[in-house]
Amino acid sequence: MRAKTMEYFDQLIPKGMVLAKEAKEQGKPVVGYYCVFSPIELIEAAGAIPVGLCATKQEPIAEAEKILPRNLCPLVKSSFGFAISGKCPFFHFSDFVLAETTCDGKKKMYELLSEHKPMIVLDIPNSATLEDLNEHWLKQIYRAKEYFEKNLGTEISREKLREVIKVYNEERKLIMELVSLNKHHPTPITGTDLLKVLWGRSFQFNRQEFLDQVKTLITELKEMVANGQFSCSPDSPRILVTGCPTGVGQEKVMGIIQECGGAVVLQESCSGIKGFVDLVDEAKDPFLALAEKYNKIPCACVSPNKGRLSLLSKLVEDFRVDGVVDITLQACHTYNIESYSVKEHLRKNHNIPLLQIETDYSESDTEQIKLRVEAFLEMLK
Ligand code: SF4
Ligand code: SF4
Repeated sequence: MRAKTMEYFDQLIPKGMVLAKEAKEQGKPVVGYYCVFSPIELIEAAGAIPVGLCATKQEPIAEAEKILPRNLCPLVKSSFGFAISGKCPFFHFSDFVLAETTCDGKKKMYELLSEHKPMIVLDIPNSATLEDLNEHWLKQIYRAKEYFEKNLGTEISREKLREVIKVYNEERKLIMELVSLNKHHPTPITGTDLLKVLWGRSFQFNRQEFLDQVKTLITELKEMVANGQFSCSPDSPRILVTGCPTGVGQEKVMGIIQECGGAVVLQESCSGIKGFVDLVDEAKDPFLALAEKYNKIPCACVSPNKGRLSLLSKLVEDFRVDGVVDITLQACHTYNIESYSVKEHLRKNHNIPLLQIETDYSESDTEQIKLRVEAFLEMLK
């Protein structure tokens, strides 16, 4: 059974296109961003609309490959292809882009993209052991603040930033409450529906409306649990999805897991809960608090990435996970290499098996993935 409130979230992306157009017509600035490391509170506090630009479709990749190498992550190629072909309304309406130095593919892609849109690239250290990590981040937060103030002719006051942080923290708490409902067995909401909510949040610019709808969804799902109505059968193995981001339109692997009888209880990746687990400390100076929060994101681009292992440990225990599926996008070296450490960590500490699936945005490997997922789920029963 599916919650009725999901109909609202089904519409978020198409409606977002209209909202972005309307915002531009009303003279409201739009700032695009690509990564969960982007401190979007600053964009909002500057009076602009933050909009997610990561693309997850196969369609623009051919255009991107005229410039970028074929052997590159599909997320980078798809995002670039959409941007240069003029087919992404969100990129089109963006006044500028907030980018970041994470993986090499993205960094170099941004150099080319800067010819199409003005951008600020935050220098995100790839090391988790730098002594002055928080200071480094704080400098980047101030750089972004000054960039927005200059380009938007506005001032980002501490008071305004505090207000925005509060709203975003409320959103994080609600998302975690929503996701936590899947601690129940059987799960009340599918992984692909959770993805629709979490991915869709970047395309709803009215935060209060989004929060209200998440609250309604939580209430409906609680009622479903009380009435014994669920999204999967009681014998579905409970699967945690990790790895590279998975966007709406590219839920191939999660869809296959569900089709084959598994329950995707949640996604740890940055398209899942990575950005929602930590709050911004409301008691601290808001700029420093932002620096500290974004510094903690356990992405494979950062080394060593011990935070991901401890987060996974907590999730597999809390959500009583039977198996983990690690989605690696082709040519994503950071997540591909880290897959080994994650597999060993889960085996040694939790006796939980991991299935790594290396894929792209095409449908060419669907049958092959199906066979591997079926065998994996069979082993878990
Ligand atoms: S996986 Fe890491 S670098 Fe890639 S979008 Fe997510 S947070 Fe950013
Ligand atoms: S999936 Fe990997 S290669 Fe692709 S953008 Fe994210 S970190 Fe970079």
